[in-house]
Amino acid sequence: MSERSVSDLNPPPRILLGAGPANVHPRVYQAMMAPILGHLDPDFLHIMDETKDLLRAVFRTQNEETIPVSGTGSAGMEAAIANLLEPGERAVICVAGFFGDRIAEMASRYGGEVTRVEAEWGHIIEADAVEAALKAAGRTKLVAIVHAETSTGIHQPLHDIIRLAHDHDALVVVDTVTSLGGCEVAVDDWGIDACHSASQKCLCCPPGMAPLTLSPNAASVLRSRETKVRSWYLDMTLLDNYWGGRRAYHHTAPMTMVYALREGLRVVLEEGLETRIARHQRNGQAVRAGLEAMGLTLHAQEGYRLPTLTSVRVPEGIEDLKLRRALLYDHNIEISGGLGPLAGKIWRVGLMGVGSSAENVLAVLQALEQELAAQGFRLEKGAGVAAADRALSPD
Ligand SMILES: *Cc1c(COP(=O)(O)O)cnc(C)c1O
Repeated sequence: MSERSVSDLNPPPRILLGAGPANVHPRVYQAMMAPILGHLDPDFLHIMDETKDLLRAVFRTQNEETIPVSGTGSAGMEAAIANLLEPGERAVICVAGFFGDRIAEMASRYGGEVTRVEAEWGHIIEADAVEAALKAAGRTKLVAIVHAETSTGIHQPLHDIIRLAHDHDALVVVDTVTSLGGCEVAVDDWGIDACHSASQKCLCCPPGMAPLTLSPNAASVLRSRETKVRSWYLDMTLLDNYWGGRRAYHHTAPMTMVYALREGLRVVLEEGLETRIARHQRNGQAVRAGLEAMGLTLHAQEGYRLPTLTSVRVPEGIEDLKLRRALLYDHNIEISGGLGPLAGKIWRVGLMGVGSSAENVLAVLQALEQELAAQGFRLEKGAGVAAADRALSPD
């Protein structure tokens, strides 16, 4: 193929209201045009330090070991497991969705003895179930759980589970990929030992960086390992030699992504965590009100619904893929389908970062109404948008 047969790059500027990636903040795109520096250039080292400080502020932690891992959210997840779990050790993994299942898979690949605590996809993990598993499992190295289960729309309560894990001398690993920057996350106050996230959800950056923080307790467990971390690339002791103290070359930092993340975090903190969380809550509430007013059924257990990702059941007789294609091509809006056992059964509407706006709530409801009606779904015209409007301006 001659190079001339490939046209200029021109992807459409979609409204990304699926499970991620979410839309990138314009300031982040701007930051990505800054020139590359050498990976040991003092100016770049300074930018790395600033990025770590910003990350600590957003994670609400004082943890020394706080860095963005090079890679997507799964790299952060894998780093947490690879660094804290040694072969033969027990891991209690909470699985009520696709991402909990992924953590369990990783823990077993790293040689862990895995106990799964399961709940139906769309329900929370009950603390009682974790307690029973911990009692039955005996000596447990870590408990891992997903705070915002993007595959189901569940906002998992953590306090009791963290307390139980600590009562059993286990470390707690929490996946905050779809909550950090959109829901309250307080690593130190909550006592999380390892917390990972991703750049492309509520932090408004492209995919490619996975924030990770380790508590002093987790860091000391890491230092006293008997075996080497099996992943060379994700070994936090090696990574820390570059991101911290000795500044030893490990791998070439993806500077552009560090710039992006630094700017994304600045945007988050300029808005203020509380204001930002309130905005996500308001818009999440509005989209739920709108979907229900259209006659749709929300999938996630009531009382535990995420503001950043709403799961809603595909009504009987409606073609999932056809509807999502129509949203994409005729309305320029992406929403996601279901994963695993929920494929074809739910849609997932993400309102993350800049994407969490009143305008997007109304746009996605309007588009859904039109495309549902086009497939013969009976609904009261305008009811969804009106209900969302009321939720957005209560008086
Ligand atoms: C998106 C997501 C991940 C995985 O992140 P990738 O960037 O796709 O590797 C992990 N956990 C949760 C809860 C997610 O939503």
